[in-house]
Amino acid sequence: MKTILNLVDDGQLWQFHGGIYPPSRKERTKDQPISLLPVPQQLFIPLSQHSGAAAVVCVAVGDNVTKGQVLAKADGFISANVLAPSDGTITAICQHPACHPSGLTTETITLTVNDTDEQAHPVFAPLSTQATPAEILERVKASGITGLGGASFPTSVKLSTKRPIDYLILNGVECEPYITADDSLMRDRANDIVQGILTLKQLISPKRVIIAIEDNKPEAIKAMEKALSVANVDSHILVRPIPTVYPAGGEKQLIEVLTSKQIPKGKLPADIGVVVQNVATAYAVNQAVTHGQPLLERIVTVSGDLVSRPGNYQVPLGTSIETLLMQCGFKPASKQKIIVGGPMMGFALHDISAPVVKATNCIIAASINELPDAPSEQNCIRCGDCEQVCPAELLPQQLQWFAKDKDHDKLIEHDLFDCIECGACAYVCPSAIPLVQYYRVAKAEIRTAEQEKLQAARAKERYELRQARLERDKQEREERSRLAAEKRKAAMAGNKDQDAIAAALARVKAKKAGQSVEEPTKEQPNDRVAAAIARAKAKKAQANSSTTEADSTSQNEQQSRVAAAIARAKAKKSQAKPSHNDEQVSKTVTEVSVENTSDDKKARIAAAVAKAKAKTQAKKAQPDESPEALEEAEPSVNSAADDKKARIAAAVAKAKAKAQAKKAQPDESPEALEEAEPSVNSAADDKKARIAAAVAKAKAKAQAKKAQPDEPPEAFEEAEPSVDSAADDKKARIAAAVAKAKAKAQAKKAQPDESPEALEEAEPSVNSAADDKKARIAAAVAKAKAKAQAKKVKTDDYSPKATPSEDMVEPTENSGIVPTKELSNEGISPEDAKKARVAAAVAKAKAKALARKQGRHSNDDNQNS
Ligand code: SF4
Ligand code: SF4
Repeated sequence: MKTILNLVDDGQLWQFHGGIYPPSRKERTKDQPISLLPVPQQLFIPLSQHSGAAAVVCVAVGDNVTKGQVLAKADGFISANVLAPSDGTITAICQHPACHPSGLTTETITLTVNDTDEQAHPVFAPLSTQATPAEILERVKASGITGLGGASFPTSVKLSTKRPIDYLILNGVECEPYITADDSLMRDRANDIVQGILTLKQLISPKRVIIAIEDNKPEAIKAMEKALSVANVDSHILVRPIPTVYPAGGEKQLIEVLTSKQIPKGKLPADIGVVVQNVATAYAVNQAVTHGQPLLERIVTVSGDLVSRPGNYQVPLGTSIETLLMQCGFKPASKQKIIVGGPMMGFALHDISAPVVKATNCIIAASINELPDAPSEQNCIRCGDCEQVCPAELLPQQLQWFAKDKDHDKLIEHDLFDCIECGACAYVCPSAIPLVQYYRVAKAEIRTAEQEKLQAARAKERYELRQARLERDKQEREERSRLAAEKRKAAMAGNKDQDAIAAALARVKAKKAGQSVEEPTKEQPNDRVAAAIARAKAKKAQANSSTTEADSTSQNEQQSRVAAAIARAKAKKSQAKPSHNDEQVSKTVTEVSVENTSDDKKARIAAAVAKAKAKTQAKKAQPDESPEALEEAEPSVNSAADDKKARIAAAVAKAKAKAQAKKAQPDESPEALEEAEPSVNSAADDKKARIAAAVAKAKAKAQAKKAQPDEPPEAFEEAEPSVDSAADDKKARIAAAVAKAKAKAQAKKAQPDESPEALEEAEPSVNSAADDKKARIAAAVAKAKAKAQAKKVKTDDYSPKATPSEDMVEPTENSGIVPTKELSNEGISPEDAKKARVAAAVAKAKAKALARKQGRHSNDDNQNS
């Protein structure tokens, strides 16, 4: 069974998938020999003319350089030197339009050529035939040689492989339409190409060397076979004509056609034992090794209907395309196309000032008629023609959709980078979709994204290294500090005195800390005072609320109306007197009443009844009052029926006690005391009465002294029986007069603002309500109320919470009559005050009526006597 090698030797060929047969359009230049063009005045030399990293410029503006001098050194493994194509001066290093489909600019060295340039003189010394592979590789590298078939991959890199190579393939297919540069080179310089092939064979030692040439170039095939025979090479160097089909010149496709091998995904030809070099590259290697001429020029096909002298020209690198076209008789047109490369894989040039670079093999200056514009893009109809012609066996329509969606993952998944951008798919697409353009843009975006990702990864790595370094430094500092502390501790251990002082200081600090903690636990005196005040306030509030509730339920409506009417009548009457001062009115009424008092029995009985009623009302108004007090009041009422004198005397004693209670208050107004005293003193016409009053005052004083803060209110009432022994008729009258005066004063105070109209309206009712019994009851009620108020005020005065400002009765500025505590509104609800005023009015009316009655009786008695 024959091996692949045997089959290759037998001349067997294979076929790749797809392919198209476009018109060749090589007629204008296929028979043209290589022509030399004069070196232009200026050369524009880009730093990046190859695959991989751009070279690093090593000259400056103004430098005079010689032909072949390195202008920019290769930067990295995949890179290439950039040399001066001619003697001259560096006049600029700047951005210049690039020979690239993007139309962007790139950093370019501008070299102004000297007039004395000599194209012929060698740059390097030729290498001998015994030169080592390393010397040859170094020469190739130094000469800046890259692949001249189109990819422009650094040749030294491709030849540096250590893998065993079965096949060295020389690519002379040149399948693109218009291009005849390699064809002309094989025809004109076949011997140099063969010498170059022998140099390459020396470097990689392949088992077979295959020179592949399309069968539409018969002259090139003959030239190469002749050169091989002249060189007397072995039989392992073959010239193999292959069928003309596009893109048979593709590296992968050519390998498959010649060896039946396919390059796996992500692999290189060297991985399967194959190295492919262009015939022009072999020529350049021979020039560098044998003639000492680096890659400073290349063969360029200039064609198209806009140039009058199409042909294959040897052009110095850096020559502007415009200059080249002009030298070829270029005739610009309104709608022209300047294409770099072939019409299938080439690109339209945006700026014809861009220079010829190492990869430039063809310039087409075509009119719109020769290369019409493609029709407008239509939607994919999924005809599948693109897939049928794709030499890489891809799915062009799928790739187009993913490229439009910028779905990079899907593009990679569908082997976008296996596309050789041959353009066969777009050539057959009925929808005129520029498929290759989509693929080129998508590849650029993915490469950019990968570069950014790589940069981010490097940045992250630098950051992590920095953090690790900082952490390491921190740990080292801490370790040094720890060691220093241990040293100090060891030094201090030998000094006992210092240790003792330190211990003493520690004890003092600990002691201070303990004191500072205990201090806040001491009870503050202010806290205790605040608690006592709070308790007193709560107690007083409870007492006030109970008093208010009791008062609201004890009012007799009828009595209230009668009393109010009487009070208004009295007020009206008092206004009619010359003096409008209420105090004077009160005094006058009291004096008159006392002077006119008599021993009338009925009057005394009425006063006793009033007193009993007053006590009953007072008890109703204070439900919280002790049961004992109520029980004491009952017997007093019952006994009043038996001994009228005693009750009258008790009334006198109570009035005195009230006066004493007022006097006992340090802040009580003097006016109030003076009101009560004169009323009694002025009534002392009778000696006995004055003596009785004095006794009553003494008793009242004793009671007032007993009335300490904790003394119960009942104390005043308990003192009444002791006064009973001093009661006589005069005393009773005096007491009645005092009660009348008090009631009158209360009535005036209760209605200080009453309108005259109201008083006039009440007049008839007063006259009709003059009932003796009611008057007495009202007088008694008023007295009882006054007494209860006196007790309450007295008790509050000695309560813990009481203060002068709170308990003092506000002077009755409006009335000016009775500014005592008993009659003040302090601690009394409005309803209670009203009741008191009603009762007082009734008592006053009754007392007045009695006085008048007694006066008449006296007069009658006098007349009778
Ligand atoms: S050839 Fe064009 S229309 Fe047909 S499937 Fe491919 S992309 Fe779509
Ligand atoms: S350009 Fe790419 S996708 Fe289109 S035919 Fe060529 S290799 Fe296939």
